[in-house]
Amino acid sequence: MKRRTLKTTVPTHTVLEGGGFPVRRPAAMGSLMSPFLLLDEMGPVHWDPRSAIGAPDHPHRGFETVTYMLQGAMQHRDSAGNKGDLNPGDVQWMTAGRGIIHSELPQDDFYETGGTTHGFQIWVNLPAKDKMMQPRYQDIPAADIPSIRSEDGKVWANVIAGQTMGIKAVIDTVIPITYIHMKIEQGGAHVQQIDQGLNGMVYVFGGTVNLNGRPVHDGQLGLMSDGDEVLLESPDGDAELLILAGPELNEPIARYGPFVMNTREEIHQAVTDYQNGTLA
Ligand code: MN
Repeated sequence: MKRRTLKTTVPTHTVLEGGGFPVRRPAAMGSLMSPFLLLDEMGPVHWDPRSAIGAPDHPHRGFETVTYMLQGAMQHRDSAGNKGDLNPGDVQWMTAGRGIIHSELPQDDFYETGGTTHGFQIWVNLPAKDKMMQPRYQDIPAADIPSIRSEDGKVWANVIAGQTMGIKAVIDTVIPITYIHMKIEQGGAHVQQIDQGLNGMVYVFGGTVNLNGRPVHDGQLGLMSDGDEVLLESPDGDAELLILAGPELNEPIARYGPFVMNTREEIHQAVTDYQNGTLA
């Protein structure tokens, strides 16, 4: 087995998304992160009563949006007739495909009382041949997301996509994706299999994780070299991270706001379809 090493770390910066929602986002990603187009840590942010915001109706085409809540209460409505509540631990894996229009807003009760919102939204690109697929919506409550703790008790994982420690995710992905939320207590260690040829990365959002002996700190994205597996340790305190992996798509990216296609012409078509009301 060949161990992956830490290739580079990318810092995050805080930006305001949508109507003013603070997110931590890696400062540079591009093809290094393929097939992931975006990684946003939403919050944690505290909302006073009647101040929480979200994203009203907006379109997507050509990729998938994956929302994973840790704290807070969001609600989703879309043009395909899907609606769902996102509470702590819930995952919504939305394949926009040829087009969807949706809203991502705080639940009514949460809006009234206020509270803390924390979670992730990740955009997963689709291969050219799947960009215009029928939209698909997988809404998985926390209770159905497989989780596991290591035998020594020091490593806990929620398996959103892919597999770890012998358990598999329930979410079906278009391309092979690994998406694991992991906590490593002080002194804990984990070896994660990631098939050779896949791009692998960790995003640390608490403490410090040593990746094959080199540190990735809170708020950093650590990009891995190629290999079959990666050693993750937390020698100096508790750590919390996401493990992400997927194939390099090696296809041109044309991106305009909520549309991610392969050519400028396809972007123009998406805009035209949206304006004509035929996107979704
Ligand atoms: Mn959206």
